[in-house]
Amino acid sequence: MFATAYQVYSPKMPSVSADAVLARFRHEGALLEGHFRLSSGLHSPGFLQCALVLQHPGQAEALGSGLAALVRDLAPQVVLSPALGGIVIGQEVGRALGARAIFAERQDGTLTLRRGFVLVPGDRVLVVEDVVTTGGSTRETIEVARAAGGQVVGAAAIIDRSGGRQRLDVPFRALATLTLPTYDPETCPLCAAGLPVVKPGSRAA
Ligand SMILES: [Zn+2]
Repeated sequence: MFATAYQVYSPKMPSVSADAVLARFRHEGALLEGHFRLSSGLHSPGFLQCALVLQHPGQAEALGSGLAALVRDLAPQVVLSPALGGIVIGQEVGRALGARAIFAERQDGTLTLRRGFVLVPGDRVLVVEDVVTTGGSTRETIEVARAAGGQVVGAAAIIDRSGGRQRLDVPFRALATLTLPTYDPETCPLCAAGLPVVKPGSRAA
């Protein structure tokens, strides 16, 4: 097992524990350990494929309910997720909160609101993703919300795989935190050790 330093950011006990979340991910083969090439091109000793858990609607609903319990004090009115990875969990968090759930998607490389989705100025927006790796896509989604007039009250993810090192200017909460480092291929210690690199699935988080 790689160094696991998961913790739960919650003012109270969550309805879904970090242990239960990680056990479910392992059960579904959604958390793998080894030497992987992520979609970003970076290498990592760990791989997460949330879709393998979220394909089970009951699991998606339970994770959404658990995340909603962690963010309810932020009083979000709208959940905004980046497509595609954030859509399913965003929908479930919105369901549990009784909030609207919308998503942003890429058009010509730029994350944007389409399909008639709008934010009313002052809408209290929560950005929800499946996994946060560096926080880059979370920051980009926050900017989409702000540009549309929303007030971003926080961000949340099922799993923070940055070991808590993402840098966001809003409160951030996750059901579980993992320390899964990423490496440039040129300086990857796993490559240096001669371990073959695997590219699992089509979209690593
Ligand atoms: Zn490597």
